[in-house]
Amino acid sequence: MSDVIRLLPDSVANQIAAGEVIQRPSSAVKELLENAVDAESTEIQLIVKDAGKTLIQVIDNGKGMSETDARMCFERHATSKIRETQDLFAIRTMGFRGEALASIASIAQVELKTRQADEELGTKIQIEGSEFKSQEACQCSKGTSVAVKNLFFNVPARRQFLKSDNAEFKHISEEFYRVALIHPHLKFSFYHNEKCLLNLEPSSFKERIVALFGDVYKKRLVPIEQTVSHVKISGFICKPEFAMKTKGEQYFFVNNRFIRHHYLNHAVLQAFEELIAEKSYPSYFIHFEIDPKNIDINIHPTKTEIKFLDEKLMYGVLLAAVKKAIGVFNLSPSLDFSTNPDYQPDILPKDYTPKTPTVHVNPSYNPFEKTNFPEHRKKQLNQHAYLESFELLQKPIEAGVQKEIEHTIEDDNTYFDSFQILKKYLVVDTRSGLLLVCQQRAHERILFEQFQKQIINRQPISQQKLFPQSLDFSATNAETLNEILPNLKDLGWDIESLGHHSFVVNATPSDVKESDVQSILETILENFKSGIMLNRNDKQTNLAVSMACGMAIKSGISLDKTEQKHLLTQLFTCQVPQLSPKGKPVFSVLSEDEIHTRLN
Ligand code: ADP
Ligand code: MG
Repeated sequence: MSDVIRLLPDSVANQIAAGEVIQRPSSAVKELLENAVDAESTEIQLIVKDAGKTLIQVIDNGKGMSETDARMCFERHATSKIRETQDLFAIRTMGFRGEALASIASIAQVELKTRQADEELGTKIQIEGSEFKSQEACQCSKGTSVAVKNLFFNVPARRQFLKSDNAEFKHISEEFYRVALIHPHLKFSFYHNEKCLLNLEPSSFKERIVALFGDVYKKRLVPIEQTVSHVKISGFICKPEFAMKTKGEQYFFVNNRFIRHHYLNHAVLQAFEELIAEKSYPSYFIHFEIDPKNIDINIHPTKTEIKFLDEKLMYGVLLAAVKKAIGVFNLSPSLDFSTNPDYQPDILPKDYTPKTPTVHVNPSYNPFEKTNFPEHRKKQLNQHAYLESFELLQKPIEAGVQKEIEHTIEDDNTYFDSFQILKKYLVVDTRSGLLLVCQQRAHERILFEQFQKQIINRQPISQQKLFPQSLDFSATNAETLNEILPNLKDLGWDIESLGHHSFVVNATPSDVKESDVQSILETILENFKSGIMLNRNDKQTNLAVSMACGMAIKSGISLDKTEQKHLLTQLFTCQVPQLSPKGKPVFSVLSEDEIHTRLN
């Protein structure tokens, strides 16, 4: 028998580690940028050639390394950032595993130049595939420059698997963005194939986001801020109307480190639910500052995943923070800009505590009930009062303002003229232009918010039937109906199963005509089923959406002036008048400028 186990030489061990840490050029970019940040640099340059396949170089003006450290840094597990296990729970630096430089040096040709501030000469080291080629004193500026040439030159299999320059460059750029975003006080520049792509001056977080993603973000961002005992959440979210069809710009940072976190992402999506269209994604830039002992960063070699000690708590705090930001700044899309273009959310005083908007819904309200308009009110010909109340809604809710809105609307003493076109849209003349409202979606929104209220208050508005009505459904609809019978009860339906796909309806929500019961229930069931497919997970919300869609007045129905007014007034007392419960726009304003352009 012979022994077969042997220790791997360091160069091989390093290459194996490199397999985990350095998957592609962008991984090296990440590691080098992080080292530059950890070295307390104030200025960092990233220079890349051929999407990093030929050259990746990071030059910083940080604290540099001594001659010995310059050599040591390429050893595996060589780090200045931790000393003992305990330190793992107090990490404030980006790196700590001491394997990045060793890994990179095992699969590339690396040239390091470094000088500490109090030294006259620096050190230059060349290393290739873990083999030291040269070391000499050299003239160089304070700080460190690491040039990584021909990545994977000695691992042809990996080199072959690199993607197109375009794809690799995208990854690099993403890594650069992640580091540059969360270190806005540092100066960064980024060169590719000798062209300067970005030159970022020290700035605020908001300015950095704008510098990286464009001026349009100035108006999209809304601040978020929340501090609870051991975590501070800060940053920006984009207003719901700027949600994107693709993943959006979604950035979480924990103690200045970009991380991915599906669970927390879900909290943000949850806060945006019903405010953005289905299959679109909100953008956010959110920073958590938390005592390092409450997180574990060391669960993944590239450190982009972390564990929070109390994930549920983080979820709750984040959800509340985002909701609060949306609640304070949420406001109707087009009008927000047309009425208040210079509005800068972050000029609000620091100690400003927003009042959560309250909406009073009259549960017995019937938009189509005929009411006689008192004569004296008709005389109050104030075409603009209505719009004013509606403009008020666009601003952060200040004390007193909400009252005014409620007052204006409940008082019903405003007059505005509307008319219907194509039996689908209501048109109102307003100071900002022509307001176009989709009647069906408007009614869906109104009903949806009413139903949600009923669910919360557990006070369904129901009408008992004199003669219970019996109905038959298809097998699948019957199955779904059986499943949601108790939930329907919370919304005013009293339905019993008779078996064999037959049911008897004892009571319905008010406003449901006997002749419509079957078709309304069928629409509810269809909507409910497609809601499940669309991952509308909360059963009650799904049902409220389905019922709103099932019971709303449809396009094609004529509405007289009083009905129009009821619908519009009711719509603008909703919390989210601008979107239907399925996320479609409810209204749009054709501005004077647009009308002017068309007629030019
Ligand atoms: P880690 O960052 O996990 O400590 P690295 O392999 O990335 O491991 O770096 C090893 C060590 O080299 C660091 O701990 C640090 O002391 C030193 N170092 C690396 N890059 C720089 C730099 N740009 N400036 C100063 N020191 C550096
Ligand atoms: Mg490092």
